[in-house]
Amino acid sequence: MFRPIRTVWPIRALILAAGLTVGCGRRELARQTWPAMGTVAGVTVPGRAENHLPAYAELARETVREMEGRLSQFNPDGVISMLNRQAGGDSVVLDPDTLHVLALSLHYARVSRGAFDPTASPLVRLWGFHGGAPRATPPTPAEIRDALSTAGYSHVVLNEETREARLALPGMKVDLGGIAKGYAVDAVSAKLKAMGATDFMVNLAGDMRCFGEPSKGKPWRIGVRNPFNTAEIVGVLHLTDGWAVSTSGHYERFVEIEGTRYAHILDPRTGYPVAGMAGVTVVATNATLSDALSTALFVLGPDQALSVLRETEGCDALFIPDRLPLELWITPELQRRFVPDRDWVDAVRVLDL
Ligand code: FAD
Ligand code: MG
Repeated sequence: MFRPIRTVWPIRALILAAGLTVGCGRRELARQTWPAMGTVAGVTVPGRAENHLPAYAELARETVREMEGRLSQFNPDGVISMLNRQAGGDSVVLDPDTLHVLALSLHYARVSRGAFDPTASPLVRLWGFHGGAPRATPPTPAEIRDALSTAGYSHVVLNEETREARLALPGMKVDLGGIAKGYAVDAVSAKLKAMGATDFMVNLAGDMRCFGEPSKGKPWRIGVRNPFNTAEIVGVLHLTDGWAVSTSGHYERFVEIEGTRYAHILDPRTGYPVAGMAGVTVVATNATLSDALSTALFVLGPDQALSVLRETEGCDALFIPDRLPLELWITPELQRRFVPDRDWVDAVRVLDL
């Protein structure tokens, strides 16, 4: 449907104990996956609910397809592309979902003092991501200044009454890549709950949300990958009913220019790809929040993130700085949910929130 720039099948967070068979040959967890949004989407249920999986997966697939059609900057017929084509000109009337995601994007841009910014697209493309020309040399300061002059969430004019949106500056582009997968996970979750589903997990390339219990009295267990050796995990997160998890990292989507690797997450305040962070994992009470915040906190790093974490209800974070030996910086409350792998117990440091 849309030209995937590069099919990335990131399995950033691992659903543990998936596919193991128990007793009577019934699987402990059953899962269906399908390609979506340039990556992989999936629904997982406990073996005891496997008979519901086809209907759940069908509903999920349909919902993700709808969301992708609306929210993708890569869909020329979608409302985001229409909005981007109108930059510097007239308003566009948004559908309720796109209005809601854009309003939430602007909210998290304000909460993160601009570290999360849905208008970072000209910068993202300047560095060669999402269809931007591959680069032999890094952008010059003048090129970065030019791209910065067509970015900035404060130039998005949104009228929630009339559902009209306008990008005030010519050349502005909205890119919901940092929040829309989480929003789609929440939309799927709401529909599955409305259908009567109680125990399931929705996953869109590592943006995940869990409900109920995989087996009686047990939480969902999500492995957090080691960004320096993605074949291993540094620990396990225990997610209980309704909780979500997202990870932003520098190890799946990056460009290499003159031998240096640049992450796909830009600091909209400077115009440069974020340096110094290898991965940030956020657990939160919904996937839109965890998705937007993992991107924002990846830009901010643990020190600058503290005020955002203090002001934001219902979220906790794990930071892995881009340096060795590996360190795991966690918010105090995360100690109740995060069990470090035995090799990484000494790497844990608790942030003074
Ligand atoms: P996150 O940290 O959640 O997001 C990083 C992404 O957000 C970056 O890739 C960039 O797009 C954007 N971004 C960068 N810096 C910032 C910042 N400071 N603030 C806010 N946003 C920032 N990929 C394909 O290859 N082909 C496709 O056809 C395709 N279609 C998509 C359709 C939709 C609706 C969505 C939501 C994504 C799609 N993607 C596609 C993936 C998208 O391009 C991003 O790479 C992906 O969403 C990154 O998610 P993440 O969890 O890895 O990182
Ligand atoms: Mg994100």
